Amino acid sequence: MNLSKKILIVEDEPGIQETLRIALESSGFLTQQVYSGEDCLKTWEESFDLIILDIGLPGIDGFDVLKSIRKKSQIPILLLTARDNEVDRVLGLELEADDYVSKPFSPREIIARIKTILRRSATSITQEDKLFVHDEGKKIIYFSGKSLALSPYEYKTLVLFLKRPGIIFTREEIMDSVWTSPEDSFDRAVDTVIKNIRARIKEINPDLDLIETRRGQGYGLKEI
Ligand code: CA
Repeated sequence: MNLSKKILIVEDEPGIQETLRIALESSGFLTQQVYSGEDCLKTWEESFDLIILDIGLPGIDGFDVLKSIRKKSQIPILLLTARDNEVDRVLGLELEADDYVSKPFSPREIIARIKTILRRSATSITQEDKLFVHDEGKKIIYFSGKSLALSPYEYKTLVLFLKRPGIIFTREEIMDSVWTSPEDSFDRAVDTVIKNIRARIKEINPDLDLIETRRGQGYGLKEI
């Protein structure tokens, strides 16, 4: 389950980097290592599931890196702190980070904290290749990294499809599991919703038609 999770480690001390890398990789995580705040800011927007961020970095320190990332993203961040005065500042920040661990730490503790953060984090990857990412907390579906502008019915229909790729649902099945108010259930309502989902996906990638129409049967998501 951790196999697809990728962690960015930001730490200037090679010994600690190695300890973290070994602990993470032996727990099934993928890792990437950078040694400065500057390199973190250049790298973090690639697809990572979590960032381990040391506070005490040469140049741009962890606090400034955190602030800079938070202007753009709520990606989970675990801070590493070395001194008590850093801990005070972390707490003073009203914890813009998801959690923090003080050095010296045990690798086991780090892994446990990371697993907790990732469980808590709303984003769940519904497809291994990450073509679709469903953020259940925010009720947003991302396609190729971009959020799809979907109406509530379009959103719920796509969620239904994403849960079971390759399955064809009849109009009645879609209506039953998605539609909340009977007055919306006019004839062809499902067809309209499907048409719109297709259009939204096409806006992002015109070459991919991922919604399957089976004449006389219904609709579903193609297995990729
Ligand atoms: Ca350091």
